[in-house]
Parts: sequence; C-alpha cells; structure tokens
Amino acid sequence: MTHDDERFLRRAIELAGTARAAGDPPFGSLLTGPDGSVIAEDRNTVLTDSDITAHPELKLARWAARELDPETAAATTMYTSCQPCGMCAGAIERSGLGRVVFALSTEQLTGLKPPATGAGARQEGPALFEEARKAVEGYYL
Ligand SMILES: [Zn+2]
Repeated sequence: MTHDDERFLRRAIELAGTARAAGDPPFGSLLTGPDGSVIAEDRNTVLTDSDITAHPELKLARWAARELDPETAAATTMYTSCQPCGMCAGAIERSGLGRVVFALSTEQLTGLKPPATGAGARQEGPALFEEARKAVEGYYL
C-alpha cells in the first residue's frame, strides 16, 4: 500500500461520508487512470435513486466498460471505501478493471451492521438443456 493508495482511499471514504450525509448508505469509490490521476468517482445512491444496484463500484465499472478501451480499463485502479459486494465484484470482473484497493473488508463491515435477514432466492435448475443450449450454441465461437 503506497502513500497514493492511502490518499485515494481517504477520498473514497470521504465520498462515503457524502453518501451518508445525503441519506444513502455510506459507501464511495473512485477510479484512477493509467497516469495515476482520478478519472471518475461516485457514491452510493441506492436510496435517493430507489435503485438497489446503485453501488458506486457498479456504477464506476459500468462507466469504465462504456467509456474506456480494454487496455485503458486494465490500467485503472478502483479505490473503494469497502470491499466490493458480490454484485459489484462481478461487474468489476466484466469491466476489465486492473486493480481494486479497498478500506473496510466485508468481514469488518459485517461487524458494523445488524445481522442480515432473509434466506435469499431459491435457485432451481438446470433444466431444458437441449432447448436452452440452442440459444447459446455457436455464439462464442
Ligand atoms: Zn456492491
């Protein structure tokens, strides 16, 4: 962890404070480009946007996939106030970002929250393989 890493993490934490002050969950993130300067930043807007996916990491991953070429995306670093959740980690992987640096770990965050409730959606499958594979077969070749 370099001095610059800590400086950018402090900015992500500051963005988390901005989110909290606006009435949203307290999370913030930013992206630095290949030259090490900040190219984008965002904060959680889940409540103000009424959008369960409005995590800053996901918003920045979507922005990067839309606005950056793959080589540039691979040379970016995401700094985020908390370790990305499963949804955001998937988007970060798909966006091709090169590096993620976080402040709080998921485990540390869990220690600051009440226990999660609900069991989550039950998944059922696989089913109808022959019919479903026809939509996919040959697409990736
Ligand atoms: Zn997330």
